[in-house]
Amino acid sequence: MKNPDKIQKNATDKTPMSEAELRKKLTPEQFHVTQEHGTERAFSHPYYNDKRSGMFRCVVCGTPLFSSDAKFASGTGWPSFTETEGTVTTHDDSSYGMRRTEVRCANCGAHLGHVFPDGPGPTGLRYCINGCALDLDTEGKSGK
Ligand SMILES: [Zn+2]
Repeated sequence: MKNPDKIQKNATDKTPMSEAELRKKLTPEQFHVTQEHGTERAFSHPYYNDKRSGMFRCVVCGTPLFSSDAKFASGTGWPSFTETEGTVTTHDDSSYGMRRTEVRCANCGAHLGHVFPDGPGPTGLRYCINGCALDLDTEGKSGK
């Protein structure tokens, strides 16, 4: 199994936006989740059950994060993926009395969700991601 801490950070061009710009661009829920480490309610966002193919991009900066090829039905009520496009960073998160690994967009630092070591093969990982932090691009499967 791949160690989530070893995931390559290969997006380098940071595009910082002011809080005012972000509040204009994002819905209140998107802002809360991506900027304030919020969590949407399970089953609240249609992406958890979305079967379309494409590239899930960062809702803040558009970086390709997860391919629909890596998506699987986890039953948790959040979009779940077994691997990333190599464009996320992981961080220890001990909030709420739990030891979890937080997942952020490597380009803009947006909070996306968490990764757990109980996913299906071959990676054994389950990236549990807030649907409202993602933007499905059905045209851009390769993401490159
Ligand atoms: Zn981003």
